[in-house]
Amino acid sequence: MRKKIVAGNWKMNLDYNEGLALFSEVINIVKDEATGSQQVVVCSPFIHLHSLVQLAKGYNNIAVGAQNAHQNESGAYTGETSAKQVKSTGAEYVILGHSERRQYFGETNELLAAKTDTALKNDLKPIFCIGETLQEREAGSHFGIIKSQLEEGVFHLDAAAFGKLVIAYEPVWAIGTGVTATSEQAQEIHAYIRKEIADKYSQQVADDTTILYGGSCNPKNAAELFAQADIDGGLIGGASLKSRDFADIVKAFN
Ligand code: 13P
Repeated sequence: MRKKIVAGNWKMNLDYNEGLALFSEVINIVKDEATGSQQVVVCSPFIHLHSLVQLAKGYNNIAVGAQNAHQNESGAYTGETSAKQVKSTGAEYVILGHSERRQYFGETNELLAAKTDTALKNDLKPIFCIGETLQEREAGSHFGIIKSQLEEGVFHLDAAAFGKLVIAYEPVWAIGTGVTATSEQAQEIHAYIRKEIADKYSQQVADDTTILYGGSCNPKNAAELFAQADIDGGLIGGASLKSRDFADIVKAFN
C-alpha cells in the first residue's frame, strides 16, 4: 500500500533557532497524528538538517529532507551541497525539480534526471516535482508538459529505482498565490500521472507510487484534496511555517 505523506517545504525561511523551535512544536503536535502508513516530512534549508534529524529521533513517522542536492558526487562547486553530504546528516528525502529551482536556477529535465540518479545512488528518496505554468494550462498543454517532465526527468529509471520516488504535482500558478487547484483539477492530473506510470512500468508500480499535491494547500482545503482517489498527501509551502496550520493539514487525513 502506498504511503500517505504530508511534507513541508520551508523554502529559504527561518534562521537556525527559528527552524529548531518550529520543528519541536510540529513534533509535539503531530507525533500522535501520523500513524501507520502516514508520514510527515519536513524539508528544511541545509543548515537545519542535522539538528532536525536529532530532534526527530524516536519518531518513526517523522522524517527530514533537503530541498536540493547537486548532481555530482563531490568537487569544486562552490556553494553547492552533495547528495552524500545531505545523506550524512541523517536526512531521508530530497526535493528535486521544484518549480522555483526550474525557474530561478535554470534546472532542466535533463539536469534533474542526473540529480535524481545521484540522490538515489546516495540512498536519498527524491520528492520529484512536476507541474505546468499558467500559460501552459491556458494553452491546454498541461498534460504534455507533465508527460515530458516525467519522461525526461524520471522515466529513465528502472521500476525498482522508480519505486523509491515520491512524485509531487505542483501547478506553478497555485504556488504561493492563494489560488489552489480545485480538487477536480488536481485529481484529474494525479490520475493522469498514475496512468503514465502504469503505462511505463506497471499498474502495481503506479498503485504503489505516492503522488502529492502542492500549491496553496492549507488547513481549509486539505481534507477535500486528500480525499481524492489519487492524491496521497501534500507538499506544503507557506502553511508549513506555522505549526498549527501544518498540524491541521496532517490531521486532514483523519
Ligand atoms: P505554497 O504552499 O506556499 O503555495 O507552496 C507550495 C510549494 O511550493 C511547496 O513546495
